[in-house]
Amino acid sequence: MDVIVAKFGGTSIGNGKRIRKAAQAVVNEYMKGKKIVVVVSAIDKTTDDLLNIVTESMEDTATEKQLAEIVSMGEMTSVRIFSSAIESLGVKSEYVDPFSEKWPIITDSNLLDAKVDFKATEVKCNELMKMMDQGIIPVVCGFLGRDDEGYITTLGRGGSDITAFLLGHCLSADNVIIVTDVGGVMSTDPDRVEDAQILDEISVEEMRDLATYGAQVLHPHALQYKDPKINAKIIGFDKGDLSVPGTVIKGPSEKEMQKAIITLHVEPISVIAVVGEEILNKTGVLAELTDTLAVNEINIYGISTGQNSITVFVNKKDSERAHQIMHDVVVENEHLSSLSLGKEIAMITFNRPDFIDTPGIISDITQPLRNNNINIVEISSSETSVMIFVDWKDGKKAYELVKGVLN
Ligand code: ADP
Ligand code: ASP
Ligand code: MG
Repeated sequence: MDVIVAKFGGTSIGNGKRIRKAAQAVVNEYMKGKKIVVVVSAIDKTTDDLLNIVTESMEDTATEKQLAEIVSMGEMTSVRIFSSAIESLGVKSEYVDPFSEKWPIITDSNLLDAKVDFKATEVKCNELMKMMDQGIIPVVCGFLGRDDEGYITTLGRGGSDITAFLLGHCLSADNVIIVTDVGGVMSTDPDRVEDAQILDEISVEEMRDLATYGAQVLHPHALQYKDPKINAKIIGFDKGDLSVPGTVIKGPSEKEMQKAIITLHVEPISVIAVVGEEILNKTGVLAELTDTLAVNEINIYGISTGQNSITVFVNKKDSERAHQIMHDVVVENEHLSSLSLGKEIAMITFNRPDFIDTPGIISDITQPLRNNNINIVEISSSETSVMIFVDWKDGKKAYELVKGVLN
């Protein structure tokens, strides 16, 4: 039988009418024979309101324990109301909060930004399964956790999304549905650009990067629990129907699923450095250089900008051609003075989904390179991948050292 985890964000349960509509949508799926777990955020802006009240009443003297306990009241209230609303529609429901014996989400004791103990949580999820087997709809507090000692913890702002995907994973759910105030993931934040378009689908990898750089629509840590078997989508609350298409989140790909993938790019990379006084403040220079390379079908592996220089990383086999083409731009552009084709560089890339919540990874990687006197020409990172450029002659050794750290 299909298992659904449905998460309702603050706006989607922002008042009584919306809660009723949401509860009805849940009951409709239940009536189709689905097992369903509901995860709820705090109603509307309750979390912000509680935090503002704390600040006003005691400035910044509240302890982490007090703060976690106070903000938890947002989700503690919404589970009770949502679960009662389901019952009012004639279906059995129970709320599950951190004081409940059936509470599944176990974390470390970092009270305001807690890390999930996945193993312990997975075991405790059996309780939710048992409830569903008895025809009960569990309504679980999003955002909250409980540590070993029984203290309430929180997963960080926006953390209900993590709760939803975590439960989806532990329950081997077929579907995780995130219900929010916009119709799905859009081409950009619709609050900022009026004609933002809704996307039919987006990959886990894209979504994670988008979220990492601030798109609030999904918490960036949520997708670490998304496996390819889970169908996931983000939908708007306004239709009151969990079967609307919204935006489907695809993947992750098999490649992403591996624990860590480290690759040494097979060919050498060449660095071309362009200089010009204060080019960081000159509009359009970067575009002109990259456009010219694009028109000539030369791929750029990396780019970095400094006050007086732009460095571009291209395949060695393209480098002579790139050098010539970029030279033409430099001669024509008044802001640029000269360029040089530098040495051959090795590119090491690695991806690991859990980089996102593993502090210190970059220093773990760079330390052995430093100990072995390997100079890093350039480094760039996102929350799930790091690219390192070193001299070509150091490439193999650097690759082995990095592999050693991560395995
Ligand atoms: P919820 O309370 O349901 O968790 P959030 O406020 O956390 O909702 O996230 C939804 C908000 O994310 C939207 O109102 C929108 O302003 C913002 N947002 C930012 N970037 C995007 C995007 N690319 N697509 C959709 N929404 C976005
Ligand atoms: N209520 C919490 C917050 O506002 C968690 C969430 O909504 O996901 O951050
Ligand atoms: Mg949110």
